[in-house]
Amino acid sequence: MADSWLIKDGMDRERMLDMDMRIQPLRLVALGVLGVALIVSGPWVGWWPLIALVVAGVFFKVAGARTEGSARPEYYLFAGWAGAELMIASSVALTGGPESPAFGWFAIPIITLAARFSVRGVVAGVAMTVLMMLLVAFGVNAAAVVDNPTYVLSSIAMVLAIAILSTALMRSDLEHRTEAVIDQLTGLLNRSALRNRTLELAERSHYVAEPVGVIVADIDHFKEVNDTHGHAVGDAVLKDIAYVLRKELRAFDLAYRIGGEEFLVLLPGADLSEATEFALELHKVLGRGLRGGQGVTMSLGVSASSFGEIFDYDTVFAQADAALYRAKNGGRNQVCVADEIDAAAGPDGGFTRHVRVSA
Ligand code: GH3
Ligand code: MG
Ligand code: MG
Repeated sequence: MADSWLIKDGMDRERMLDMDMRIQPLRLVALGVLGVALIVSGPWVGWWPLIALVVAGVFFKVAGARTEGSARPEYYLFAGWAGAELMIASSVALTGGPESPAFGWFAIPIITLAARFSVRGVVAGVAMTVLMMLLVAFGVNAAAVVDNPTYVLSSIAMVLAIAILSTALMRSDLEHRTEAVIDQLTGLLNRSALRNRTLELAERSHYVAEPVGVIVADIDHFKEVNDTHGHAVGDAVLKDIAYVLRKELRAFDLAYRIGGEEFLVLLPGADLSEATEFALELHKVLGRGLRGGQGVTMSLGVSASSFGEIFDYDTVFAQADAALYRAKNGGRNQVCVADEIDAAAGPDGGFTRHVRVSA
């Protein structure tokens, strides 16, 4: 799905929807807290703001429901968000405008902006809010603002400070989480990302009958590359291999660096023959040489779960790894495939299919 005005890409959209789902229960609690404050304040400021609060809750509910199945759910969520600010604006207007005790409440929805939208969305939301604050303040009681502008000013400053800090907080949290799953040298996913993904795929296999292909690849005699050309050249080779993997993969395949010079490719939906085909293709592309001109070779082991079978990653990985081991023993620079798995064949049996590729 393409990006939009409020969201950078599909992954951000997923994150936004996930986050919205997670904050829903606590958003109700927050609305409850505000409701209690309004009920207690009723005798002094009247009951109208309570209605605005209920309407704001309804806005969120409707916006949330409209996101379902929508290609651009961010627009509904943004509309719901703007609706909440509008309700705060009407409460403020009904309870004294610039002198309303609820004037600072404009800042509350600001906290959630950065967690959902791109910087553009945050800027738009903040600009909209500040405009509403000025309109309400001057529209209801311009004389009071001119007489003492400090209350309005300090509330606007609060809105801006909260927007800046929550954006920084969100950004650092995202970077932190990205660092935890990305290998810094190659930019590929790392082992902890692999664990999460395999658990997801196992879960998915309970209701989707798709197989999952697994390829394990290890550079041949990589120690010699380091010893002969130095560690920096070794690092460049690792980056070049990562580049090849990324270039050859389909959008939903994932490549991981699971060890120093060991890589793993997860192929959701690929059965053993498709995974083998892909491994052979990779091997062929690698055989043409890397960008840096280094002529390294790789050994690859392939396995896959079967159609309609629960994806047991540990088993499939062990099969692919055993195939890789055979590729190494068979002279390296080749692809070996785990054959139809025969439970009775024992730990060493079953891996008989052997694909040798000359390079
Ligand atoms: P084989 O064909 O049996 O796989 O031989 P090999 O030399 O590739 O395997 P071995 O496991 O003996 O050596 C792996 C080497 O990978 C040793 C280590 O110096 C190198 N290595 C691991 N991580 C990195 C890295 O991040 N950068 C560089 N430059 N080298 C690395
Ligand atoms: Mg190696
Ligand atoms: Mg190795």
